[in-house]
Amino acid sequence: MKAVTVRPGEAASISLDDWPEPEAGPGDLLVQALALGVCGTDREIIAAEYGQAPPGATRLVLGHESLGRVLKAPANSQFAEGDLVVGIVRRPDPVPCAACAGGEWDMCRNGRYTERGIKEAHGYGAERFALETGFAVKLDASLGALGVLLEPASILAKAWDHIERIGHRTRTWRAGKVLVTGAGPVGLLAALMSRQRGCEVHVYDHNRAGAKAALVRDLGGAYHDGELAELDDLAPDVVIECTGAAPVIAALATRLGHNGILCLAGISAPGAAVAFDMGGFDRTTVLQNDVIFGAVNANRGHYEAAARSLAQADRAWLQRLITRRVPLANWREAFEDRPDDVKVVLELQAPAP
Ligand code: BGC
Repeated sequence: MKAVTVRPGEAASISLDDWPEPEAGPGDLLVQALALGVCGTDREIIAAEYGQAPPGATRLVLGHESLGRVLKAPANSQFAEGDLVVGIVRRPDPVPCAACAGGEWDMCRNGRYTERGIKEAHGYGAERFALETGFAVKLDASLGALGVLLEPASILAKAWDHIERIGHRTRTWRAGKVLVTGAGPVGLLAALMSRQRGCEVHVYDHNRAGAKAALVRDLGGAYHDGELAELDDLAPDVVIECTGAAPVIAALATRLGHNGILCLAGISAPGAAVAFDMGGFDRTTVLQNDVIFGAVNANRGHYEAAARSLAQADRAWLQRLITRRVPLANWREAFEDRPDDVKVVLELQAPAP
């Protein structure tokens, strides 16, 4: 079978290789891959800025946004042949720490977790893969090809879980107004989940041409493509930062409203120094009871919450998030970053006609 692999640490080493068929153990599903979502993390791994091969291996099978169909399931499992499944990305650390032991691997305390397609574990970018039943999420069949959005959606389900826990430090808290920075797939899914909570939603992005502005407006949100300073009077209750851009983060950190919550969900490249008024930041953060926190990855509960959110969303809107579907024969094109892309999907098996 074929797999998309990289040699972590060696830029542009990505290739489509012949790869051994997976060996599904007694507790594993054997999965036919249908689609793989491509994200910024994949591009960083391809650029040799991130990612690690499994111990003893030189290459890493890329891909962590999966969608597949079960070919074989253990007899006594809750899965059956034909089920649509998505693989959870992270695996608990081997110690395990208290968080991983309790199923909260997204909050691993020692950093020794592994992540499929990212850190020390082969990913889902192969025609078939083995998946432990404990790390498989069954999808409602009606979601079909849109199930490939589950992994990015799980990131926002976690972000919202933590935002709500922080918000409820005040008994009267309500996430009335939300600002999302960045209208990529993560930002747009953040906007979707904010609208599903009844919030007033504002999305800030520099893109003026592609589908992003219309996607935000069709959700009932406002799209802003000017200067961030133009949003100074917005006073959002919640900001979900999805650009990972240092100047945007620096600007947001000093522009929160009272009791503001800034959730950093985009991952920046290190070394991006920006001028920052630390004294002013401290003063407003303390005097306004602001909270700035990071959110990464997701546990099973977040995948399940994300599945509910996708199931309730307008299918046609979700469909528009996937701006390119690339067949395996043209696999390289899936990893090209084109200006008007939202989500690009590599089709590992051609969809049924
Ligand atoms: C993935 C997460 C992962 C993170 C850090 C993101 O792209 O969606 O599951 O934890 O990268 O490796």
